[in-house]
Amino acid sequence: MATREYERKRDFRRSPEPRPRRGRKRSRKPGFAIQQHAASSMHFDLRLESESVLKSWAVPKGPSTDPREKRLAMPTEDHPLDYLDFEGVIPEGQYGAGVVIVWDRGTYENLSEDEEGEPLSVSEALERGRLRVRLDGEKLSGAWALVRIAEGREERWLFIKERDRDADARRTPVRTEPESVISGKTVTQMGEGEE
Ligand code: MN
Repeated sequence: MATREYERKRDFRRSPEPRPRRGRKRSRKPGFAIQQHAASSMHFDLRLESESVLKSWAVPKGPSTDPREKRLAMPTEDHPLDYLDFEGVIPEGQYGAGVVIVWDRGTYENLSEDEEGEPLSVSEALERGRLRVRLDGEKLSGAWALVRIAEGREERWLFIKERDRDADARRTPVRTEPESVISGKTVTQMGEGEE
């Protein structure tokens, strides 16, 4: 299964995180989510549905709607599709222990093309190190790019807002819109509610 690494890291008798399910079908448009995760360090997790898993990156500073702000994104293991809706508390001693909220979610469209303007699948675009998507979330929208800047053990990407009508250098949604789009709770409130 494509989420073997995800499963290997977790004890589902202890963690409330979703166990991968086979044959899970979703709506026609692929989904995305950005989770805020208060773990050993605070970060955001970007997840994009592709070929029955969620391609995932940890984004330490979270997304910026300012195209000049290029946000570092570190690839992490593929997650199961059910993770798009997951929020809650991961207990002490478990992988990723801490608090997770769904900071944004919605669907996306793959805008990636090759040099000749022919469409590229998400996996082809990731292979080449440049994925372009149009997000349709509750907080984030418009065109965004993921660009690989280093490969191998030190693989790193940048998550960048492209210049379009949804770009806005004055917005700082990570700071001004901290609530979960599911529960309305901040990570702090989510942590207090369950401890
Ligand atoms: Mn995380």
